[in-house]
Amino acid sequence: MRTPVGIIGAGPAGLFLSLLLQREGIASVVLEVHSRKYLEERIRAGVLEQGTVDLMHELGVGERLKKQGLEHGGIELRFGGRGHRIDFRELTGGKCVTIYAQHEVLKDLIAAKLAANEPIIFETENVSVHNLESAAPAIHFRANGISEKLECDFIAGCDGFHGICRPSIPASALQIYDRDYPFAWLGILAQAPPSSHELIYAYHQRGFALFSMRSPKISRLYLQCAPDEDIAAWPDERIWKELGNRLETTAGWKLTEGPVIQKGVTGMRSFVTEPMQFGKLFLAGDAAHIVPPTGAKGLNLAVADVRVLARALREFYTNGRRSVCGECGRCSGFPGG
Ligand SMILES: Cc1cc2nc3c(=O)[nH]c(=O)nc-3n(C[C@H](O)[C@H](O)[C@H](O)COP(=O)(O)OP(=O)(O)OC[C@H]3O[C@@H](n4cnc5c(N)ncnc54)[C@H](O)[C@@H]3O)c2cc1C
Repeated sequence: MRTPVGIIGAGPAGLFLSLLLQREGIASVVLEVHSRKYLEERIRAGVLEQGTVDLMHELGVGERLKKQGLEHGGIELRFGGRGHRIDFRELTGGKCVTIYAQHEVLKDLIAAKLAANEPIIFETENVSVHNLESAAPAIHFRANGISEKLECDFIAGCDGFHGICRPSIPASALQIYDRDYPFAWLGILAQAPPSSHELIYAYHQRGFALFSMRSPKISRLYLQCAPDEDIAAWPDERIWKELGNRLETTAGWKLTEGPVIQKGVTGMRSFVTEPMQFGKLFLAGDAAHIVPPTGAKGLNLAVADVRVLARALREFYTNGRRSVCGECGRCSGFPGG
């Protein structure tokens, strides 16, 4: 098998990249270790920044987002029971964030890829990358029990934090910056209509709490906790009581409760690696950097990475440029260095 760009990982980075390349007439093949069903049901991010929303519309995959996404023009910061609204639209010249779950984004991207007859090979096994510093890099993998080799011009390592691409780069070629925070978030997904139409970040002496949502029927809430917090010690009643305490307000606001449909403890970590290129391999998204969920940033950063990568690849394939991005003239375009 041969393709100009072999993409490892069908998360936001990999799928957005393949659609951006498709728009430029550059073919790619996406390899994914999980099934389509798994990706389309896995609960992760939910806050899309304006740039991500705009890109979905530009790529023609924003139809459901337009109907189902919940636009938020601001957030509330709550201290000592008093809310202070931060008006995004006023502060950013009209921009806002949109609540639309990551797995819904993936559904839209996967459907668009498959409708265009562009391959995504799901449930691949034993994926490995080879000859990264040569003119003929390759990806080896197994699919449907058969060993395959995919020859490429470039490989995009969009396989997330636990993927195989970053560890395939010699450690001596990478500089890693890493920080584990001394707290975690206990998060729940609840069948409860949102108690507020915007997110609430609450500072409380018992610890931080966040109210957010995934849809008009589903709320997503978090409590700051210890990194080794035992989730078994948190029956639903205790979680609701603690959320009620930390989100309490002087203004008569009431937290809507409902059945908890998912709960877990998420550690807080920052990790950045540089450079994001080794020979013909380019890292993008969580494969290169992760930020704690506090900022609701990871998905949006993954999208920002592949926008730059797609632009550089377009410059390479259309103009043979290897050094400077033709669009802005500033960022160093990549292919070949
Ligand atoms: C619980 C949780 C909540 C989060 N909340 C938010 C939020 O509110 N807002 C936000 O912006 N971000 C959030 N994030 C972060 C966000 O989900 C990630 O930053 C985003 O998914 C990064 O996209 P990605 O494509 O780089 O990586 P991923 O989404 O991790 O995709 C990588 C893909 O590669 C596949 N893969 C891995 N190894 C291989 C292999 N060897 N071969 C083939 N395929 C492979 C994986 O199966 C996966 O599908 C959250 C993350 C978690 C875990």
